[in-house]
Amino acid sequence: MDKNKIYEIIDHLRPTFEVASRYVWENPELGGSEEKASAYYRRLLQESGFAIHDVPDMPYAFYAEYGAGKPVIGIMGEYDALPGLSQKPCAAKEAVVEGGPGHGCGHNLLGAGAATAAIALKDIVEQEGLAGTIRFYGCPEEELLCGKVKMVSKGCFDDVDFAITWHPMSHTLVWDGAALANITARFYFTGISSHAGAAPEKGRSALDAVELMNVGVNYLREHVIDKARIHYTTNAGGTPPNIVPPNADSWYYIRAPRMEDVKEIFERVKKCAEGAAMMTETEVKVVLENGCCEIRPHHSFADLVQENLEACPRPEYTEEELDFARKIQGTLDPAAVARDSALLGTSNEAPIMPKAGRRDLYLDLPLTASTDGGDVSYVAPMHMFAAACWPAGVNPHTWQAAAINGTTLGEKGAMYAAKVLAATVYDLLTKPDVAAAITKEFEDSKDPNYSPLV
Ligand SMILES: [Zn+2]
Ligand SMILES: [Zn+2]
Repeated sequence: MDKNKIYEIIDHLRPTFEVASRYVWENPELGGSEEKASAYYRRLLQESGFAIHDVPDMPYAFYAEYGAGKPVIGIMGEYDALPGLSQKPCAAKEAVVEGGPGHGCGHNLLGAGAATAAIALKDIVEQEGLAGTIRFYGCPEEELLCGKVKMVSKGCFDDVDFAITWHPMSHTLVWDGAALANITARFYFTGISSHAGAAPEKGRSALDAVELMNVGVNYLREHVIDKARIHYTTNAGGTPPNIVPPNADSWYYIRAPRMEDVKEIFERVKKCAEGAAMMTETEVKVVLENGCCEIRPHHSFADLVQENLEACPRPEYTEEELDFARKIQGTLDPAAVARDSALLGTSNEAPIMPKAGRRDLYLDLPLTASTDGGDVSYVAPMHMFAAACWPAGVNPHTWQAAAINGTTLGEKGAMYAAKVLAATVYDLLTKPDVAAAITKEFEDSKDPNYSPLV
């Protein structure tokens, strides 16, 4: 089938895409509570002719399957939102619900784009009588960095030959090995309560322990690899200052380019916690909440995606959409917009990246966040690419991104991504040599020691 025909099939599904994306955007649900979104996609895929499969103990995860035999190709969709990012689709910071959740990472676009590609592929497989199984994976809890790790752990990807997904961004490029591995852990300190004025000598402060642990970790930063990132917050630091805090905790993310580095740093962070507990005569309980791996590079898979990113026509925008994009840029730091614009080849006239980036652009724009999709790349050849849905300068997890994700501006980028997903999967189904080369590269570089952390 000509690729233009695939793009046409996706274009015909535009209303289906739009309704799904807007429904999820208008009903933002945090990771772990994606009841409406998962129900919506289950119904949509079922009505489109897919068989739905549950995932044990994960009510908001599922996979939908069409076709038979090999290869089994998984298209992964996400749908969770972020706390505090409620935002109207306008170019000023204005919440729909003050303090409510919002789609600042664009998972409404991500999920709807992925589902649209899966539905289109069902039609294509049917029309051409192709062998193979198309799966849409409904993946909750991405923002908690654990949904897909749990699904890998439950064997959901065991028979998958290729997995693919995408992410809305301000740039269009392949991520050939990306994201940082991450461990999320909580440190619960327990001390002894006392009157802070009348009998401080009888108290042992858990908050002191949290502070001393953080001081220790901040010195540790000097002695870990350059690309490691360690960040923390606290949820509990005591009550009024006249009570020596008997309970306090800290919540840590530890990231690095490879999981083995993360594990090593985590052991040293634990020593800081134990040292702080010793200094303050408190006790510490460490809870490893979850962990996700980096995305492993699969060069031949990235080559195929790059080809399809370049072949697919970029969206055309109306003057109104471009004006909205410029207004959004007007709310950002002008220096950051100028820097990103230079890198992405955008201008005031064309504020959204006009074409796919060169094959190695990801090296200049490394993804230093983490994603639970990394674990999928350990069990199957997997690729996640970025598609420009936002003007240069906009970053994920911001109100600006949340605003755009509820508009046609963001939707056009997601429709482009759906076309690239469908075209790439079509190649995997119809070009056995290309598929075999990707499989070989994966098998040759497979990590035999991998096991999911949750
Ligand atoms: Zn995110
Ligand atoms: Zn995201």
